[in-house]
Amino acid sequence: MAKKALVTGITGQDGAYLARLLLSKGYEVYGAARRSASINHWRLADLGIDKDIRFVELELAEFSNILRTVEKVKPDEIYNLAAQSFVGTSFEQPIYTGHVDGMAVTSILEAIRTVGPKSIRFYQASTSEMFGKVREVPQRELTPFHPRSPYGVAKLYGHWITVNYRESYDMHASSGILFNHESPLRGTEFVTRKITLALAKIKHGQQAELRLGNMDAKRDWGFAGDYVEGMWRMLQQPTGDDYVLATGETWPVEEFVTRAAEALEMKIVWEGEGESRRAIDTTNNKPIVIVDPAFYRPAEVDLLLGTPAKAEQALGWKRQVDFPGLVQMMAEKDEERVRDNSLRY
Ligand code: NDP
Ligand code: GDP
Repeated sequence: MAKKALVTGITGQDGAYLARLLLSKGYEVYGAARRSASINHWRLADLGIDKDIRFVELELAEFSNILRTVEKVKPDEIYNLAAQSFVGTSFEQPIYTGHVDGMAVTSILEAIRTVGPKSIRFYQASTSEMFGKVREVPQRELTPFHPRSPYGVAKLYGHWITVNYRESYDMHASSGILFNHESPLRGTEFVTRKITLALAKIKHGQQAELRLGNMDAKRDWGFAGDYVEGMWRMLQQPTGDDYVLATGETWPVEEFVTRAAEALEMKIVWEGEGESRRAIDTTNNKPIVIVDPAFYRPAEVDLLLGTPAKAEQALGWKRQVDFPGLVQMMAEKDEERVRDNSLRY
């Protein structure tokens, strides 16, 4: 009989890639999405799998809904990918973020404890943002945490409650501490996709300039398609555990801009420092990338760099796409969408 997986956050970036992977392995995929006035299945459609998902309605803030959904589906595996996932928004909506990214994890674990503590395996989408003001470089599973945003704090609760249910009730519950992972399906508020989409629009005369915040921040950026493979591998182990997924390399935001411009064959030069830093289009001398302090954060995570050593050794996981390949993939896809007027976001 086919295995059943319940994936929360099915309409998001990772939900789409994970669903494609699980379908390819013969799973019945139950995609949990919250009620919306308009259908937002564009990522699933982009991967050509929107017709293959069994959709169920699930709102993370509503325990009764979660319990009924888990009772109805009786999945073998639950992947909790749903979250208010944007750090910037968490400063504006700290309480909501705490409910959805923190407390709701307990709701799912309680539903599993009620319906099938020994039969349902659980994956929690934890994050490198829990390391925040980093205590060591590179960060690994045992690095102390110091989150720098309401998002990071809420996710830290989600991480520890997952560990706690594993230890208290002997549940197969795993926490994947994933470093930033991007793709052509990334939300446009995140800096990578914001950059590739804006540069593609600037190149094709649909936008004048790109405004960014802290361009000195460094991230360990991988490809989402690689990372969902690691999530699945975690749930195939004999017991639950915590694993870091990362590339082991870190790059500044400015370098992402430079490489995206190169991928789009745009000629830019950088000038100025700090808030005056900007990139000039050498073909017309216009500044096309400028700093806007509105995008600064009240507290910043300056540097993230993870080591995937444990995942590589224990799970046999290895990322396939490197940083130049990731930038190229995202820039090319956004240019294609802009050129063909096929942007669905
Ligand atoms: P996205 O923002 O692309 O997707 C988030 C998903 O959560 C969407 O499907 C969204 O639904 C859903 N969601 C949000 N709020 C609720 C709610 N109240 N009830 C039900 N569903 C809700 O995130 P990603 O796919 O990039 O990330 C997946 C998970 O991994 C998230 O938990 C994120 O925090 C975590 N993570 C991501 C990293 C990354 O670099 N991408 C790094 C580390 C962790 P809707 O479409 O309706 O908004
Ligand atoms: P995060 O690591 O989950 O916060 O992912 P983001 O892509 O949102 O941000 C990555 C880094 O880019 C952070 O340090 C941001 O401060 C920095 N950054 C600089 N300019 C921007 C911007 O305009 N938008 C976003 N989202 N981030 C920016």
